[in-house]
Amino acid sequence: MYRPAAVLAVIRCLLLCACVLGGTAPAAADPLPLQDLSPTQALGLHAGQLREGSAPLTLEQASAERAAGRFAASTAAMLSFGIRSAPVWIHLAFANASAAPLPRRLLIENSWQDRIDVYFVGPDGTTTPLHLGDTRPQAERPVPGRHFAVDHRFAPGVTDLYLRVEAADPIVLPIYLTTPEAHAERRQAHGYRYGFLYGYLLALMGYNLLLFLGLRDRRHLAYAAFIALFVATNLAYTGHGYAYLWPDSPTVQRWVIPILMVLYATAGLVFARHFLDTPKAFPRTHRALAAATAGFLAALAAACLLFADQAAAILVAFVAVILFSLAMPALGIMAVRGRHRYSRYFLFATVASTVGTAVTTLSVLGLIPFSAFGFQAVEIGMVIDATLLALALGSRFRAIQAERQSAERLAARDPLTDLYNRRSFLELARPLWSGTRRHGHELSLIMVDIDHFKTINDTYGHAAGDDAIIAVARVLTDSVRAEDIVARWGGEEFLVLLPETPLDAAVALAERLRAGIADARIAMGGQDVRLTASLGVAASGDKESLDRLITEADHFLYQSKHSGRNQVSAEILAAAA
Ligand code: GH3
Ligand code: MG
Ligand code: MG
Repeated sequence: MYRPAAVLAVIRCLLLCACVLGGTAPAAADPLPLQDLSPTQALGLHAGQLREGSAPLTLEQASAERAAGRFAASTAAMLSFGIRSAPVWIHLAFANASAAPLPRRLLIENSWQDRIDVYFVGPDGTTTPLHLGDTRPQAERPVPGRHFAVDHRFAPGVTDLYLRVEAADPIVLPIYLTTPEAHAERRQAHGYRYGFLYGYLLALMGYNLLLFLGLRDRRHLAYAAFIALFVATNLAYTGHGYAYLWPDSPTVQRWVIPILMVLYATAGLVFARHFLDTPKAFPRTHRALAAATAGFLAALAAACLLFADQAAAILVAFVAVILFSLAMPALGIMAVRGRHRYSRYFLFATVASTVGTAVTTLSVLGLIPFSAFGFQAVEIGMVIDATLLALALGSRFRAIQAERQSAERLAARDPLTDLYNRRSFLELARPLWSGTRRHGHELSLIMVDIDHFKTINDTYGHAAGDDAIIAVARVLTDSVRAEDIVARWGGEEFLVLLPETPLDAAVALAERLRAGIADARIAMGGQDVRLTASLGVAASGDKESLDRLITEADHFLYQSKHSGRNQVSAEILAAAA
């Protein structure tokens, strides 16, 4: 809850101003009836609160302050005192109208509070002081878990509850009076929710790690790191980490949240750098963000290692995360304005998490009705954020694929006629040749060369010559079967490869091609021009190689040229002549 809690601090200031302007109402004194209390009701609105002055108060002094009417009524169901607050005293009163003691569990749904002193002052004035807080390892807690809880038997009559909270981090106190059974149910419901959240995000993370390993594209690695650090930060501030990962180490707990917050913000910016290519797209902004990030990391290192100052580390973390939260949508807007390809995904994604942050903050503050949905909005925002960014990476991946395919096609085709070029013709023809050999089938080849093409170029110009080449190419492709391969072999020379075709059928086709070319009218310089071509045909027969087949087609083509052009030559015809 650190990102929202950051914005929360700002909104809390506005709220406090409103309180000051409106005058602080005295605390509501009516004790809460224990029997009617819902275990899911946050009790902030029934609490009285007091900020300590320069000297710490004892319980006696605090209760005297309350008796003197110096405790103020709270205006929010979820108590919140922001970051760097003076220690606060909270008071709640509970009435047990029955004749028997009522066992209940006090639950404070916060995982990071440093120290909470709990005093139940019973109807007979007896006090049971207790200490909660994350400076104590799990084993020393009355009720282990990610939140602070303690069981108490409420004697018949009115019991006063005083809490004194002292923390270097922001003070947020969602207080509930529940039972062990209701608490267990609540934990289970939370467990499912976080199971889904972490499962979903970790699946996205793992998938992107695999994509990185497969594609070596750093964007996927940066994205996986960003999600991993969100999950790690979330694990830390929700108390999952302390409850399950480092239960014995208050030292880890002391530093882990601010460190992860800064790393999370850094990973977000690194991802933006790779995703939007910020060094090229926005060099000045990029340099500013890089400098700011380096500054935050240095300040964090100094706070943690040099001064061992937890409050300073938390302050650095909050400033870093607030700036990060503003920088991400700002980068998104810049990218959209710069027409970056996937900037809309990026902008919507970051807006989703920023809106989630705002909703959680407002809901934690009680400025909008508090609900589990509102409280988890930041997580919902992050699920939307992560999903949109994953979709963006996916569509980027698809675009790269399409680009590669079109590049491959361009490399395989002759740009003038869009026929296969010499290289791709050979690539396609070789396997056909070996298949033909293996299965003992026939395959034929026709070589076509436009007659007196130099004259056409000289008479009508080079551009008109190009049109003639295109027109002949069209006659060829329009006359053959789908499985035949037509290629531009050189300047005005073409090859037509005919799989599963014996020589006589190939000669018949060559004759049709010759007639088709001779009949075609080609518009050149305002007049319709006719041209002719000479053709040579060869069949696979017992030839040892594809090259040999091409050489023979070429040989018969020259025979057609020598015999007067505009004709077809082949071995059978040569034999018949
Ligand atoms: P023949 O009947 O003996 O084949 O005579 P020809 O003039 O067609 O033969 P030659 O091979 O001497 O000339 C081919 C000409 O084709 C020469 C070259 O400038 C021209 N040519 C080659 N590629 C292109 C091209 O892409 N566009 C145009 N317009 N002309 C080309
Ligand atoms: Mg020619
Ligand atoms: Mg030629």
